[in-house]
Amino acid sequence: MATPIGNLGDIAPRVKETLAEVDLILAEDTRVTIKLLNHLGVKKRMLSCHNFNEKSRLQIISQCSHLNQKVALVSDAGTPLVSDPGSEIIRQSIESGMRIIPIPGPSAFLLALVASGLPCDRFVFEGFLPNKTGLLKQRLEELRNEQRTIIFYEAPHRLLKTLAVIKDVLGERKMCLARELTKLHEEIIRSNVSEIIAGIETKSSQIRGEYVLVIEGCKKDDLVISAQENELPAKITQMLKSGLSVKTIVQEITKTYKMKRSEVYQLALQMQRERAEKTDTVPTTK
Ligand code: SAM
Repeated sequence: MATPIGNLGDIAPRVKETLAEVDLILAEDTRVTIKLLNHLGVKKRMLSCHNFNEKSRLQIISQCSHLNQKVALVSDAGTPLVSDPGSEIIRQSIESGMRIIPIPGPSAFLLALVASGLPCDRFVFEGFLPNKTGLLKQRLEELRNEQRTIIFYEAPHRLLKTLAVIKDVLGERKMCLARELTKLHEEIIRSNVSEIIAGIETKSSQIRGEYVLVIEGCKKDDLVISAQENELPAKITQMLKSGLSVKTIVQEITKTYKMKRSEVYQLALQMQRERAEKTDTVPTTK
């Protein structure tokens, strides 16, 4: 079940009731969750649940299940499993036939997305980016042609470096930096990557708190044709084989790739002719 990401006023009534009613709480950090329980006036048996002990906790859940007891899973803040422990427990509990009841509440990425002013109809949540510069660049390269809005979590001490690499690899884009959501010092800055970097540099000594980065997806005109995508002839051959007309092929290809219709048309036509010569049939240019 999800717990607040800062503002205790955001705790959902069903979460309160359930915490009071369950037999055991599995918490990412019991020292954090005890504060929430104290706030709610709930006393409950608690055990820690981290990535490294998730498997051993499964045995306990299984015992509880045999005794018809209920177990709650919470993380320090927000929705468990979202860049937090719990995936293994949920996966194995499902496999063992246990009932999982998700109880909703806040998650930082969703709040940042809806406040960003960027498209929310299609988005991709990437969690934390890798630490090491090489891997960070590689991950961002993979996202260069991503057309959906992209969301990252980031720690304050890595923020400037990450933004610099984003600017380098993804180029200038609109973005939103959401800080300390639901808390006293909540701040939501909507601008572009360069201006956000410049703004942070002026107050670099005060980069504190929790951040979500929401980045505009790649515009169709900025799509970069990679070596793999350049294998257009193979794609066209496949489309011709499946019986698509040259006109449809041109429509489909130009939907995805930054290429002129006339270029694709010429290429598809030429390939259709070559195929026809091989199979000795008359090509149609419909
Ligand atoms: N499970 C949580 C959720 O549902 O959002 C995320 C946990 S993850 C370990 C922690 C990261 O979430 C932080 O480093 C930050 O990027 C983001 N985050 C959590 N609380 C936030 C807040 N109040 N404001 C902005 N970002 C937050």
